[in-house]
Amino acid sequence: MKIFIATKNQKKLQELKRILAPMGFDVLCENDLDFALIDAVEDGQTFEENALIKAKSGLAQTGYITVADDSGLCVDYLGGKPGIYSARFAGEHGNSDLNNDKLLNELRGVEMEKRTAHFACVVACVFPDGRQFTVSGECHGHIAFERQQGSGGFGYDPLFISEKGPFSQLSSDEKDKISHRGKALRLFKEKIKEYIEV
Ligand code: IMP
Repeated sequence: MKIFIATKNQKKLQELKRILAPMGFDVLCENDLDFALIDAVEDGQTFEENALIKAKSGLAQTGYITVADDSGLCVDYLGGKPGIYSARFAGEHGNSDLNNDKLLNELRGVEMEKRTAHFACVVACVFPDGRQFTVSGECHGHIAFERQQGSGGFGYDPLFISEKGPFSQLSSDEKDKISHRGKALRLFKEKIKEYIEV
């Protein structure tokens, strides 16, 4: 059975492929299409709304069962910001260096106890017959006073201290075990069995 992953993010694609391919799905991505996927307008107010917007856009364009995810960092001291705007916190979409600089600036002088934060991830799956479901995961920790050593991960990982240490110092496997995306994907793996027989 074919399933389409609506993302341009290679890391997300690989993580979803790792789970779905062994389940017997024929996993497709944008490269497998003979047309360019039009980006969905992510104008939802929550991670769930945006994940569903992306998944429905993929379904509308391909006709396949489609999976998409939306994720971000929520910092308590900033009232949950950057949240759904994580990728473009500093203005330019996907510029992690600028995003991390902005986060450090906004938390300048804030003591460690007040630097609590969590990553959130929602994975949405939509079907041609109109059914849909979402699953979510969170990972709680702190925002460091400065970038941590380690080259692992992406985005805000250099500033995020999890219960297992800085995200930038964890291997992919270690991060998967505790991360927001890892948790959501493990739920996804169980949930999709209720919807289809592979
Ligand atoms: P999305 O592609 O619209 O879901 O944007 C997610 C954004 O949230 C990314 O660009 C990162 O800035 C941030 N983000 C989400 N998950 C992680 C993570 O695991 N580590 C670091 N940053 C993340």
